[in-house]
Amino acid sequence: MKTRIGFFDFTGCEGCQLTVMNLDNDLLKILQLVEVVEFRELMSEEVTKLDIAFIEGSITRQQDRDRLQTIRERSRILVALGACAENGGVNLLASEKAVAELRRTIYASDAAHLLTDKPLPLHKVVTVDYSIPGCPIDGSEFLAVLQALLLEREPDLPQFAVCVECKLAEFPCSFDFGEICLGPVTRAGCHAICIEGGDRCRGCRGLVDNPRTTPYHRILEEHGLTVQEILDQYRTFNIGDEI
Ligand code: SF4
Ligand code: SF4
Ligand code: SF4
Repeated sequence: MKTRIGFFDFTGCEGCQLTVMNLDNDLLKILQLVEVVEFRELMSEEVTKLDIAFIEGSITRQQDRDRLQTIRERSRILVALGACAENGGVNLLASEKAVAELRRTIYASDAAHLLTDKPLPLHKVVTVDYSIPGCPIDGSEFLAVLQALLLEREPDLPQFAVCVECKLAEFPCSFDFGEICLGPVTRAGCHAICIEGGDRCRGCRGLVDNPRTTPYHRILEEHGLTVQEILDQYRTFNIGDEI
C-alpha cells in the first residue's frame, strides 16, 4: 500500500505548496510512491487517517487550533512546511502591533467580524515531528525529506551556513557591495539562491545549529556594522525564535 500524504494550509501565502506543485517531473515520480489523499489546491476529498501531513502556515484563530489538532490526531507524522509553520515566519511581524489595531487598520469597519489572533507557529499548538525551513521551502529539500521519511530514516538538514554554498558557487559577496547579508549564520539548503539572483541573504531558513559568531563579528566590524543591526534584519523571518 502506498504511503498516504496530505497537504494542509493555514495562514500563509501558499508559496510553499506552490513549490511542491512546481516540482513537475519529480512530482510525477513522487506519485508513483505515495498517494496524495488531501490537498486543497488539487482536490476536495478528506480521509480519516494519513501517514504524513505537510502543513503550511501559522495558526491565527481558534478554529485553526481545532483543525490543526484534528489533523495531528489523524496523522502518523506531522511536518511543518516553511517558515510560517516552523516558527511563524513573516506572519509574526504582526506580533509587533496589537492585533486589534492591525485589524482596524486593514479591515476598517469589517474588523469586528474577523476574529484573528496573534499568529503562532505549529509547535505552539501540537507536536511537530519535522520541519522544512525557508520562505518558501526549497523543492529539492522537500523531496529529500520525503524520501527520508519514506525510507523511515531521520531527515537531515544542512548543518552549515549559506556562506558555504555561496562560496562554492563563487557568487560575489553582498558585503562587498555594502549590503548586510545573513548568510554567515543562516542554515544552508537553498543553494544561496538570493545571492545568485543579485540580492543578499535575509535569513529565511533560520539560524544554523552552532553558528560561528566570532568570524561573523569580524566581518561586521570590518564593514562598520553592529550586532544589533544584524539582529534587526534577522527578525524579519525569525521573531518566532524569541517567543
Ligand atoms: S513560509 Fe513564506 S512562502 Fe511559505 S507560506 Fe509562509 S510566507 Fe508563503
Ligand atoms: S556573506 Fe552572504 S554574500 Fe557573502 S559569502 Fe556569505 S552568503 Fe555569500
Ligand atoms: S539566501 Fe537566505 S533569504 Fe535567500 S532563500 Fe537562502 S536562506 Fe532564504
